Amino acid sequence: MAVERTLSIIKPDAVEKKKVGAILAMLEDAGFSILALRRQHLSREVAEGFYAVHKERGFFRELVTFMTRSPVVIAVLERDDAVKQYRGVMGATDPAEAAANTIRKAFGANKGENAVHGSDSVENARIEIAYFFPASEVAPSA
Ligand code: GDP
Repeated sequence: MAVERTLSIIKPDAVEKKKVGAILAMLEDAGFSILALRRQHLSREVAEGFYAVHKERGFFRELVTFMTRSPVVIAVLERDDAVKQYRGVMGATDPAEAAANTIRKAFGANKGENAVHGSDSVENARIEIAYFFPASEVAPSA
């Protein structure tokens, strides 16, 4: 299985609830290495750019308002099969439908405020990581 990287964002709802440490612990317990980590209050411009693929969706304005209301914690994660494995640990978009022992089941409130973001493909992971971290800020795993 190939070693991959993926982008995780701990969203404002989870940071406000002080679940950053608990979520990072779940990720390390699931075998991910944290290669880069930053707390950042997203500007509207940065959030709109990040979610540009969703700009025609009805919830876009609500999503940007949510993601900019307070700081997030952004991380680059690495392990074998990272994109799929992280989607598994993260859980379904709607926390009510997320499996037991997933981050969204444990900490998500609803379909919008669902605690974490995760890249949905290896190609998007590359784009999303580069959006937030220059290569010089992503330390190798060993
Ligand atoms: P994900 O890949 O599981 O995060 O889901 P999507 O790519 O479909 O949606 C991106 C993000 O938009 C989700 O994680 C939610 O924060 C938000 N979102 C999705 N659907 C809705 C919705 O119906 N209402 C609101 N307010 N936000 C939504």
